Amino acid sequence: MNLKNTYSFDAIVIGSGISGGWAAKELTEKGLKTLLLDRGRDVKHVTDYPTTLLNPWELPHGGQVPLELKKEYKTGSKNYIFSEATSHFLTKDEEQAYIQDKPYDWIRAYQVGGRSLLWGRHTQRWSDFDFTGPARDGFAVDWPIRYKDLAPWYSYVEKFVGISGNKDGLETLPDGEFIKPYELSCVENHFGQIVHNKFPNRHVIIARTANLSQATKIHTSVGRSQCQNRNLCERGCPYGGYFSSNSATIPAAFQTGNLTLKSHSIVHSIIYDEKKNKASGVRVVNALTHEMEEYYASVIFVNASPLASNLILLNSTSNRFPNGLGNDSGLLGTHMAFHSYRGRITAEYDGFLDVKTSGKRPTSAYIPRFRNVYQQETDFLRGYASNLSANRVFENTKGLVGDSLKNALLNPKLGLWHINVGMMGETIPKETSTVQLDRNLKDKYGLPQLRVSIGYDENDEKMLQDFHQQFKEMYELAGFKNITPIDTKRLPGNENHEMGGVRMGKDPKTSLLNAFNQMHLCKNVFVTDGSCMTSTSTQNPSLTYMALTARAVDYAIKEKKNL
Ligand SMILES: Cc1cc2nc3c(=O)[nH]c(=O)nc-3n(C[C@H](O)[C@H](O)[C@H](O)COP(=O)(O)OP(=O)(O)OC[C@H]3O[C@@H](n4cnc5c(N)ncnc54)[C@H](O)[C@@H]3O)c2cc1C
Ligand code: SF4
Repeated sequence: MNLKNTYSFDAIVIGSGISGGWAAKELTEKGLKTLLLDRGRDVKHVTDYPTTLLNPWELPHGGQVPLELKKEYKTGSKNYIFSEATSHFLTKDEEQAYIQDKPYDWIRAYQVGGRSLLWGRHTQRWSDFDFTGPARDGFAVDWPIRYKDLAPWYSYVEKFVGISGNKDGLETLPDGEFIKPYELSCVENHFGQIVHNKFPNRHVIIARTANLSQATKIHTSVGRSQCQNRNLCERGCPYGGYFSSNSATIPAAFQTGNLTLKSHSIVHSIIYDEKKNKASGVRVVNALTHEMEEYYASVIFVNASPLASNLILLNSTSNRFPNGLGNDSGLLGTHMAFHSYRGRITAEYDGFLDVKTSGKRPTSAYIPRFRNVYQQETDFLRGYASNLSANRVFENTKGLVGDSLKNALLNPKLGLWHINVGMMGETIPKETSTVQLDRNLKDKYGLPQLRVSIGYDENDEKMLQDFHQQFKEMYELAGFKNITPIDTKRLPGNENHEMGGVRMGKDPKTSLLNAFNQMHLCKNVFVTDGSCMTSTSTQNPSLTYMALTARAVDYAIKEKKNL
């Protein structure tokens, strides 16, 4: 490869997804000339959302993806979000080969905005039941922070993002800075009341979601407007009704005049300056020309998403760090974890047939974790949160396309209420759950391939059984019929909440990052995507990545002269 082009900035951010977008916004707003690098193509807000305004009957294949195309997205097409309307936001397998020592579906969305374009937008805070989990239950290492350290930063990011939610006053799920909540359906309400009467620590609430149920000045100032409740967010939203890097943080960063965005730029490694004992920049493979470029800065934020960030750090070798940047402990790429989405349980309800839902709602109901919260009560560790939705099903639209689909939708035949609960289980980060480099096998850009060895264990199996038992009992109490427990057999990775490998902790011997996401052994590098997570808890993780990122930038700016 030829070495071409060198450029200098105050800060470099690797990856423009949810966490990288936040890093770019915060760094530029603090006055730093910042280079935001992304390996994918640029996706311009509004103009690059080709399917956003198509009606169901206008999709040529009724939403299905032709088999030929599906083959190119062998991994991505296993994700629930993959359809004719969204395939362009997922990544083809040939873009980045990897090795599965254990079966693993690495879902990638390589473009400017990353997975922020596709995400489900559920945004729940962690509580101290989550931050104290590893210390209480004796796994991983103790988190170096507690809820009080992150609480102001949750508030800070929530105001900008726009989180619709209800102040539920729950110890397990702290309230935030909410805009108007969406509503539970009558069956969700019914279920919630019955369950709460029998189990006072189980709560069915409306999920907190990053959709603008009300747009205020902080949102309109970057060009966003109120959500129209179309529930088509994963196509990109022309109203900016849901939070994405493309609609919110990147425009805010551009407004400062301090942002340079460079797409098609695959970060290969971080350059370590042996004389100054710190990182000096990044090596980048230009995805279009395959030439190597270098960019320099005094602060580097790593936000490529967990597996990709681990890959970059493991590939950042030098005389000082022959095993990867900051990796004296040998722990880089270990203690990976994820959320188990194996459990589902469906049912029908023949009550409330005089009621139907009107319009759409871009969220669902949510049941915060209730197992093993105050004391250990099962033979497995930790617990699960759950998504719940109850809707009346359309009985006359299946398999239809074009005009016949349009007519059926205009004259719907409604069936019974259909109830669906999905489990989001905490998995235990273990030293044996790893991602490592195979230096003999390269991908098409010449980067080493990642060897992934992450799987389920006995704890996960027991948790799955408990989920099915508990919900079967609750469904029966609520009078639901045709109860069907399902093991989705979803592989790790396909839940979209992969975490770990570069964990935070108090001690450089047992962790890679300190309490401010700063590398213990390379002070001007910060890692604030999911790879920093010491444990996973049960909440959807991205709100926590955002809060950690904003807090880390604040710290980096204050410490800048020492970096
Ligand atoms: C269908 C779906 C539903 C989801 N629902 C939720 C939800 O409800 N709530 C929730 O909290 N989370 C949800 N998630 C997960 C959420 O999207 C991720 O947690 C979040 O996007 C992670 O942010 P990130 O910045 O770490 O990574 P990403 O958003 O994945 O962005 C990473 C970026 O880095 C770039 N990149 C990768 N490698 C390199 C490299 N070598 N050089 C340069 N750039 C690179 C990529 O192109 C990408 O743009 C969902 C995800 C999906 C796909
Ligand atoms: S539900 Fe709201 S945010 Fe989602 S696509 Fe529709 S208008 Fe946009």
